[in-house]
Amino acid sequence: MTHLCVAIFVRDVAQAKRDIAAAAEAGADMVELRIDQFHDVVELGTLLQTLTIPSIVTCRPTWEGGESDLSDEERLRLLDLSNFFTTARLVPYIDIELETLRRVPGAREKLARSLIISTHDFQGRPERLNNLIVEMTDAGGSVNKIVWMARSIRDNVEAFEILENRQKSTIALCMGEAGLISRVLAKKFSAFLTFAALEAGGGTAPGQVSIHDMKRLYRWDALNPKTKVYGVVGSPIMHSMSPAIHNRAFETVCHDGVYLPMLVQPGYESFKAFMESFIGFAPLDLSGLSVTIPHKENALRYLKEKGADVEPLAEQIGAVNTIIVDRVDGQPRLRGINSDYAAILDTITTTLSITREQLEGKRVAVIGAGGTGRTAVAALAAQGATVVVYNRTKERADELAKEFDGRSGKVVAARIEKLCDSCCEIFINTTSLGMHPKTDASAFGDRQPNLTPETLVFDTVYNPMQTKLLKQARAAGAITVGGVEMFVRQAARQFEAWTGHPAPVDVMRRVIEDKLGKV
Ligand code: NAP
Repeated sequence: MTHLCVAIFVRDVAQAKRDIAAAAEAGADMVELRIDQFHDVVELGTLLQTLTIPSIVTCRPTWEGGESDLSDEERLRLLDLSNFFTTARLVPYIDIELETLRRVPGAREKLARSLIISTHDFQGRPERLNNLIVEMTDAGGSVNKIVWMARSIRDNVEAFEILENRQKSTIALCMGEAGLISRVLAKKFSAFLTFAALEAGGGTAPGQVSIHDMKRLYRWDALNPKTKVYGVVGSPIMHSMSPAIHNRAFETVCHDGVYLPMLVQPGYESFKAFMESFIGFAPLDLSGLSVTIPHKENALRYLKEKGADVEPLAEQIGAVNTIIVDRVDGQPRLRGINSDYAAILDTITTTLSITREQLEGKRVAVIGAGGTGRTAVAALAAQGATVVVYNRTKERADELAKEFDGRSGKVVAARIEKLCDSCCEIFINTTSLGMHPKTDASAFGDRQPNLTPETLVFDTVYNPMQTKLLKQARAAGAITVGGVEMFVRQAARQFEAWTGHPAPVDVMRRVIEDKLGKV
């Protein structure tokens, strides 16, 4: 069993009791009491007697990333709890740094039997990592603990390997945003524990996930060694709503999977190195990836280099946003799709209650010529629509039109100032205009085109849900649809590609609407 441990800085007994109660209430089955700045052994003894869940007592020195200025001898005296913890119902683990054992001959013998021997490196991966583990194992504690600042997401794989090859109970965690997955997947790899923070943004080390997120968002209770791993790859990534949507969807259909944010630095080499290490490490059970900025083009390039199956329209668009990892006879087989283009088409056809075939010949204005504009143009041109691309930088619109013109439908470019004269039946905003926080902007500007009750205005911006553009269009009597619909549909297609289950679209929509309601 892997403990879910909340680390608590003890400032005074009343505060510690409150925090312990809150941690237990939130689902922690262990607490770490950090007594770096609290040295009253009598009060500590009383506190330990009240505990109903196992605990760790730690007095971390400043030279190992803690707050204690005590000398080694003073700390060891404090941690020698034998004089009072005999009355505690649950004997606590004592955490002691490997370095302290090196510095103080005979220190090991002075301490409790239930010892966690730890090393921490806040700068990066420690040198001689494997030697350190051997040294910790030989030092004779009950648990080895090794924690370091992730240099990149690939360091997590080394933490998992340490857990896979452990000789005794082990904690192996990477700190920082890139290390988040080691904290959640500690349970998959049967670590002794993982740490969680009592509050979001709190905690005792960089990158600690709140206990609420650990339990609710990442579904701690459902994680097990067979859990399949999914994630969204990008940089930055912590703002992504995809983990909330996909984890809830997995829960809804009882799919044994967990979906995590995966920070991969920009650049093809970073992406490739990430893929090679994550795909190559079979025990991870990596089964699917969403790919976002700045890696969609890198994903396509990587899959093509690997000779993987790539959906033809994803290749035309030049971007893959979904990778499916199947294992055939233990060997990984990768596929790439672009779920955005289908999401754009389905959002339009569902809102208008038409088939994709009925898009043929429809006049569509695509505003914007960036990544989303390109996806919309490719998808609509493939369906035989007549597309006019409007973009602030006209040359980009010209290039896009030239590239996709004649791929079934006609594609032309026009100056953005001419948008107000457009007689299109469908308008799609793919610019960031109107997006939070600049919500008073609209892709129509001050002079909107002539809209009729049959005109569809589709804003791909989803935050806020009701953009100024949509309000203008509704006031003019047009049919409207917002970016949430596209977001949910692209996620649903990913979900179906990975799991083979129909996606619980309503649940997914509610998750994003709830989240956006709180933004
Ligand atoms: P992108 O590649 O950076 O393209 C941005 C586009 O917006 C370009 O055409 C750019 O014109 C235009 N633009 C930016 N600021 C402008 C301004 N002040 N005035 C006029 N045009 C401006 O971005 P992207 O990846 O396509 O994303 C664009 C938007 O799509 C996002 O903001 C997001 O809201 C939305 N989106 C929605 C979903 C969904 O699932 N609903 C998914 C992806 C994206 P220039 O060429 O002149 O720079």
